[in-house]
Amino acid sequence: MDITEKIWMDGELVDWKDAKVHIMTHALHYGGGVFEGLRVYDTARGRAIFRLRDHMRRFFNSAKTIYLDIPYSLDELCEAVKETVRVNGPKADYIRPLAYYGTGVIGLNPVNLPTRVAIACVHMGAYLGEEQQKKGVRLITSSWEKPSNRAAALQAKICGNYINSVLARLEAVHHGADEALMLNSEGNVAEGTGENVFMVKDGRIYTTPLSAGILEGITRNSIMEIARDIGYEVTEKDITRTELYMADEVFMTGTAAEVLPVRMIDEHPIGNGSPGPVTVELQKMFSDIVHGRNEKYMKWLEFVD
Ligand code: PMP
Repeated sequence: MDITEKIWMDGELVDWKDAKVHIMTHALHYGGGVFEGLRVYDTARGRAIFRLRDHMRRFFNSAKTIYLDIPYSLDELCEAVKETVRVNGPKADYIRPLAYYGTGVIGLNPVNLPTRVAIACVHMGAYLGEEQQKKGVRLITSSWEKPSNRAAALQAKICGNYINSVLARLEAVHHGADEALMLNSEGNVAEGTGENVFMVKDGRIYTTPLSAGILEGITRNSIMEIARDIGYEVTEKDITRTELYMADEVFMTGTAAEVLPVRMIDEHPIGNGSPGPVTVELQKMFSDIVHGRNEKYMKWLEFVD
């Protein structure tokens, strides 16, 4: 992560080094916050944020799940995101809005606590590395189970939910893998620690359903639409670990990860062990779209200037 100049905090732009929170911040203890991750891309018409409004709508919906009142409108926060990108100059390529319960109580009940809101930008580059982005990642199946929809509000991006992802990611790192694959309590594939999962089998594309306990990814949604537009059949269905081993292609999607080929899972090569044609086609199309090289999907770009 490369830092930038300014962070938007509760309505004001402050210097990076001054964007601090109190140690008694409720969310720091119990995870009562929500966040988003968005990407900014260079296009011929200037810099653009990918699906800004959809991300910020999800932000408000995540907040609703934990009864966190955001004291700004959707329009105000979309404008604040754009302003934060503008003041931070060209190297900022990833945006992190965060809203959370502030200080006031030590117990669990956050009901009367103030809401704090921040928007930061960083330079991220390729999330898991340039090489991995091109040649594919190695996954391990995590021994940590993804909580069920009964145990957590998984379609909301709640800070506290992410300790499960952090555990799985640590496991992957300690096993020398790039990323972890998470299974749910049924033993079916849920998602990566910060990515949705797709497989290609006999020319058809499959991805896991919300009932598997996943975040409804905006990249997932984009890829489903793009793939259908160019004639692929895309089906949401439960996917087993074994099906992934036997798939022709597997790839992951996420704002940070973009379209990420998977070349190996638990030391089994996927397909021939290098990115397959469908993955490469979708990766290329996605890259063209986010960089404003495809008129049809300009609707997804929010220009910053
Ligand atoms: N699943 C999880 C758990 C995530 O954190 C993310 C990243 N937001 C995704 C999937 C992908 O979602 P999106 O495409 O909206 O970034």
